[in-house]
Amino acid sequence: MPVTRFFADSAWLGGERAVDDVLIEVDGERITTVTPGADRPADADHLRGLTLPGLANGHSHAFHRALRGRTHRGGGTFWTWREDMYGIAAVLTPDSYHALARATYAEMALAGVTCVGEFHYLHHGPDGRPYDDPNAMGEALIAAARDAGIRITLLDTCYLAGGVGQELQGPQLRFGDGDAAGWAQRAAELRDGELARIGAAIHSVRAVPADQLRTVAEWSSWRPLHFHLSEQRAENEACLAATGRTPAHLLADSGALGEKATAVHATHLTTDDTALLGRSRTTVCICPTTERDLADGIGPARALADAGTPLSLGSDSNAVIDLLEEARGMELDERLASELRGHWPVSQLLAAATAAGAASLGWPEAGRIEPGGLADLVTVGLDSVRLAGTRPETALESVVFAGTAADVRDVIVGGRRVVTDGRHTLVDDVPRMLSEAIAAVLP
Ligand SMILES: [Zn+2]
Repeated sequence: MPVTRFFADSAWLGGERAVDDVLIEVDGERITTVTPGADRPADADHLRGLTLPGLANGHSHAFHRALRGRTHRGGGTFWTWREDMYGIAAVLTPDSYHALARATYAEMALAGVTCVGEFHYLHHGPDGRPYDDPNAMGEALIAAARDAGIRITLLDTCYLAGGVGQELQGPQLRFGDGDAAGWAQRAAELRDGELARIGAAIHSVRAVPADQLRTVAEWSSWRPLHFHLSEQRAENEACLAATGRTPAHLLADSGALGEKATAVHATHLTTDDTALLGRSRTTVCICPTTERDLADGIGPARALADAGTPLSLGSDSNAVIDLLEEARGMELDERLASELRGHWPVSQLLAAATAAGAASLGWPEAGRIEPGGLADLVTVGLDSVRLAGTRPETALESVVFAGTAADVRDVIVGGRRVVTDGRHTLVDDVPRMLSEAIAAVLP
């Protein structure tokens, strides 16, 4: 690939303010130089608006996109939502999953997401029979991300039980590999690619028996390891009753916490759990739009950060795909819970949506606009009705607190344009593709 030059009218380079007139030179997929206050060369690709590092979506279940807006009838609870979700899980095939995930990842690209962590547990055919290629579903997700032009970390998820002490049943049979050794054997066949990396996940302490946790933790020693943690109080109660320990302590005792580990949600923690996560430098991925949709509660994000935990952000159930909404959601939820404003400087909210999320997905070289970094960039236009009147000195705050996915104008992944002026360059008509892929899996 030739050297490409991008010229950003303004860009966030990590500080508390955006910087004007930034020339970003790219060789292949890497940034080579970053020059603020530059003149705009005639041949440079002009990025009009505020340019950020590509956004990292730390936690996604692509197929939940088909449930958007359909789970509120009669109010709905977490458990009726889960039943609706199983309805979709029951009918997906490698082909229909590829189509749905490609459309969902294309929507993510339009929202400025350049890297997604896909928490993947829909492994096998109906009744749990493996496909001829036992990783056909995971490979379909990797292909979907490639077709949509974004990076993926496939977090291949171990899911063995229907609850503490319960067998898998019904649609859950598709999730199971028998035991953790069977899961590890299958997952070992997956390979990293140009835009894809492989990580591991423990669905939750509900879904992986205590005596199987260490096998997953050891398999993933040098890869990202993610797990849902204490999303619902019922999980804590069942875990305490069965093991005498909180989910966080059980995972710690199984070797699952640490710098490569990410706990998703971490909503209902004891103060001791919070200290444990912080001490071990386990990342916590907060998913505010899903947590509010499911009435999960508000987790102790600020206390976790104070204890030493890096924070990342995820769209999780994809009820909304908008990382700017997730970033302000973390701050605004904390305001509602504490009746105080100003818990994070805007630079830290942006870091959660970029570098911290990318690192938690095993892409430490992404998420910063600096020499040597991956050339993943997203430009937010500042001329919509939402952002018109933005001033340079508070542009970061304007974008984080009032910008939306609809303001994303240009997206570059590894030096290649994936979105130009709000249009996907690889996928012709993303709304039509979503609508067809969803119609194909609805009852
Ligand atoms: Zn999740």
